[in-house]
Amino acid sequence: MRHIAIIGSGPAGYYTAEAAQKAFGEDVRVDVFDCLPVPYGLIRSGVAPDHQSIKGVSRRYEKTALTENVRFVGNVTIGKDVTIPELQGLYDAVVLATGAPNDRPLDIPGDDLGNVFGSAAFVGWYNGHPQFADLNPDLSGNTAVVIGMGNVALDVARILSKTPQEFEGSDIVAHAREALADSAIERIVLLGRRGPHQIMMTPKELGELGQLERAVPYVDPDALPAEAEDAILEPGLRKSVTHLRSFADAYEKQKAAKAITVEFAFFAQPKALLGEKTVQAIEVERTQVISGKAVGTGEIRKIPASLVLSCIGYRTSPIPDVPFDERAGRFANDEGRILTGLYCVGWARRGPSGTIGTNRPDGFDVIDKIVEDTNAGRLGRANKQGRDGFDALAKTRALDIVTFRDWKRIEEAEEQAAREGAPREKFVEIEAMIKARD
Ligand code: NAP
Repeated sequence: MRHIAIIGSGPAGYYTAEAAQKAFGEDVRVDVFDCLPVPYGLIRSGVAPDHQSIKGVSRRYEKTALTENVRFVGNVTIGKDVTIPELQGLYDAVVLATGAPNDRPLDIPGDDLGNVFGSAAFVGWYNGHPQFADLNPDLSGNTAVVIGMGNVALDVARILSKTPQEFEGSDIVAHAREALADSAIERIVLLGRRGPHQIMMTPKELGELGQLERAVPYVDPDALPAEAEDAILEPGLRKSVTHLRSFADAYEKQKAAKAITVEFAFFAQPKALLGEKTVQAIEVERTQVISGKAVGTGEIRKIPASLVLSCIGYRTSPIPDVPFDERAGRFANDEGRILTGLYCVGWARRGPSGTIGTNRPDGFDVIDKIVEDTNAGRLGRANKQGRDGFDALAKTRALDIVTFRDWKRIEEAEEQAAREGAPREKFVEIEAMIKARD
């Protein structure tokens, strides 16, 4: 019997569990740990609440979770409740699938002002992550500046733009739905430090921005390169740029009917956030793109901002005893290997990029490495205690473990609490989740 501990129950975690079952069959026991009492990581707390079809992938993870040799161990924080060396003593392999839950810092003067948030916090707030449920962003001003031109920036701009009716069928949490219904934001500025040809937004997601009930995207036609230059772009990016062109064309016709404008500001590098206690403006420097890089021109302008949301990427949370690559913001690893018997997968291995599906081959790849290391005798003889040993340790520490069966009870309570047409109303406090289990 081989015992594998996977830390993190998001996409990378469950694809790795699935791969372990395929590789070792009946001869493996997999424990999937999560610090929350609820599973699925990014699927629950990161994917936008109005993208329910993407969230549907959790049904696949549930299939894996319900098999005999995989179990969910929720409400346990590895590195705090139990250390990595302790887990290594109990399991043949420990795989860190902890994602990248922290914001990459903006690191400019004024980034500590009030009403300035990173996307991890803001997305966590509208998705009901317990850590951010009390974020309480002030939406009473009229201009939100969203820094970054990736899909997270798009998610954030779209969520700020939607009417309560457009959230029907979503699982946006009540506190966010109510706050957004009262929002006074009329102008959303998407700030890109490079140009239209360097956006990271994918076409399907960008297209959604042109379909909103009360918001219209604005692209200054003069900011777009000559259309012939689109020919050199790879097909996905070319489609995205085609959306930008149609936004530029449609704006004048649509603007009168829409209360909110989502404005694309290209070639604008954030330099400082200005304000007393709370942000009031952002100072940006005009850039030129030279050899793919944003280079400042020295031309500075100010954009008023009552709310600033920085959507510039994520970092993995370090865990005590695990080598960390500070510069890259993820665990120090060689193709998924960290130390003997200690591995990482998904965003914790390669950083925050790609789709949910990218994590599947990642999961299979890390299990291939574990098989290789097992066969080469690098993981020692198969005599670790695995879950029995963990359960004994958990008992001595009085850990209150949440099982998958417990989660199903929590899920049922969330489904029962759903407003009409919505799939669920999430609990946003750990205590409430635990109470629903009991
Ligand atoms: P991303 O795609 O890497 O985009 C980050 C953006 O932030 C880029 O435009 C980047 O500009 C900009 N940026 C980085 N550092 C900056 C700085 N210091 N100042 C100003 N701008 C800066 O990251 P993401 O949007 O967080 O998305 C993460 C991953 O999740 C991506 O793979 C994304 O596709 C995926 N995702 C998918 C969906 C979906 O619906 N399909 C939804 C959300 C996320 P540069 O390009 O100039 O560096």
